[in-house]
Amino acid sequence: MCPNSRSVRREISMRLVFASNNAHKLEEVRQIMPAGVEVLSLRDIGFTAEIEETGATLEENSRIKAEAIGIDGVFADDTGLEIDALDGKPGVYTARWSGASGPEQKIFLSNRAKALHELAGVENRGAQFRTVITLILNGKTIQVEGVVRGTIATEERGEGGFGHDPIFVPEGYDKTFAELPAEVKNSISHRGRALAKLVEILKQ
Ligand code: IMP
Repeated sequence: MCPNSRSVRREISMRLVFASNNAHKLEEVRQIMPAGVEVLSLRDIGFTAEIEETGATLEENSRIKAEAIGIDGVFADDTGLEIDALDGKPGVYTARWSGASGPEQKIFLSNRAKALHELAGVENRGAQFRTVITLILNGKTIQVEGVVRGTIATEERGEGGFGHDPIFVPEGYDKTFAELPAEVKNSISHRGRALAKLVEILKQ
């Protein structure tokens, strides 16, 4: 929950569409947003088309997803894992890095295995998650960014979260995002930080 959620709750009352088919992101966004912001999914508005992420940056893909819905009052999240020893890779290609296809959990596992493999024997395990959110509201397009620094673990730990959470240890903690309670992840995560900035803009 964002730190100002009590005061925000009194000040904001709106409905926004979250332009994502990722159920995990939707769940987190709904947990993080203050109660005055109703978050509708693409399914809620009957949007079923696939959105192709053809951009070369998180900023471009985030904008592509938000604009694809074709309505006002929409926001999109594009997220990448940027590993220091790999010059910021996989970055914008995080979701498809290993090339695996099939069920979501199989793809997640294969992407994590690739990260662990690439960093085998590498001392510098520094990395960050970066989220870029694009909001289209009242005819204006706004982007905000959220970053969390951390390290890549040497093996998978934890059952919570999704994607790369079992191998990402946020700075200041000795547990992975998958081992930490969702409220803790949301209070320090890339997505939580980007959404906190978004909420500040919504309050203006
Ligand atoms: P995209 O923003 O949908 O392109 O997501 C990129 C990929 O990053 C996802 O498929 C996940 O593997 C990973 N990812 C995004 N957000 C998170 C997160 O909060 N925790 C762990 N992995 C994440």
